Amino acid sequence: MGVIERIKKFIFNKTGIPRFEKIIELENSLVEKEGSISFSEKSPIRFDIPIEFTKREGIDVPLTPKTMPHILSSMKNMKQAINNLEGNLKDPRNTIGESEFKELESFIKSLNISGIGYTKVPREYIFSKKAVAYENAIVLAMNMNKEKISTAPSKKALKNIWQTYDALGVAANKIARYLRKKGFASHASHPLGGIVLYPRLAEKAGMGAFGKAGILITPINGPTLRLTAVYTNIENLPLNEGNEHLWVRDFCEQCNKCIKACPPGAIYEEAIEHDSGRVTHIDNEKCFPYFGNNFACTICIRVCPFQMTRYDKVKKSFEKK
Ligand code: SF4
Ligand code: SF4
Repeated sequence: MGVIERIKKFIFNKTGIPRFEKIIELENSLVEKEGSISFSEKSPIRFDIPIEFTKREGIDVPLTPKTMPHILSSMKNMKQAINNLEGNLKDPRNTIGESEFKELESFIKSLNISGIGYTKVPREYIFSKKAVAYENAIVLAMNMNKEKISTAPSKKALKNIWQTYDALGVAANKIARYLRKKGFASHASHPLGGIVLYPRLAEKAGMGAFGKAGILITPINGPTLRLTAVYTNIENLPLNEGNEHLWVRDFCEQCNKCIKACPPGAIYEEAIEHDSGRVTHIDNEKCFPYFGNNFACTICIRVCPFQMTRYDKVKKSFEKK
């Protein structure tokens, strides 16, 4: 049996990927937890990667031997994020002092976090069947490596994607533990899958704006990053108001590079607006098979002008036109 086959056997065994299913069960159990904030009837349904891949004939999971440690570590951290909720105090503090807040931000930045935003979680951003323990979100971005992503789809780019998922999941758990130690309550969530629509949450937190490919375009590192959040009971976080990045939508209108480059034609020319106000940019039925069989694809990020050129430079030349 080859290495890849052994990995798959370990992660996805006979009863239909029990390890991921257990994690999903754990996540879903939060809905029953007293005081948690649950999804709303307007919430989107999460496509549970990689379960769906394996359930579809002919669709593979983007795995290589080098990504295995990151997949296993991600699974461990996804479980920890939920199990650690038991460590929250019954009567936690809910106000943070100025110097404590500065220390918190320094700690977060020391974990290789490239962007931080603060916002409240709207229920309609929470995936169906999911819940968050607290409504105040510390939204976190971690950069992927632009050079490696510029080789996508490739093993090199795939490894970098998994490394970033893994490192960001570890960082979220560390931040949640840090907050607990300081007497606050916290709930870490993992970037893989996620409990909330992270790009939308990050847009609300003022960290960037959606591009046509449904990816957050940011001044932090263009579209080349992963997102997650830590939810907390701290009531006096500097919540964001407004968003100075919405010009990106006008830029996208005259760009369309991702639409032209997407091999299966999965990016809608005009995003679909649902009655709930949610917007869908990608046809998952077309994207996921290609994504699964081609090292997590990522061509839409690779070709985006913001991946290749700095945000402020793109903005400047757009404003001149
Ligand atoms: S990941 Fe690939 S297939 Fe999916 S939308 Fe982007 S370019 Fe298209
Ligand atoms: S490639 Fe162009 S259209 Fe697509 S998200 Fe990037 S800027 Fe927008």
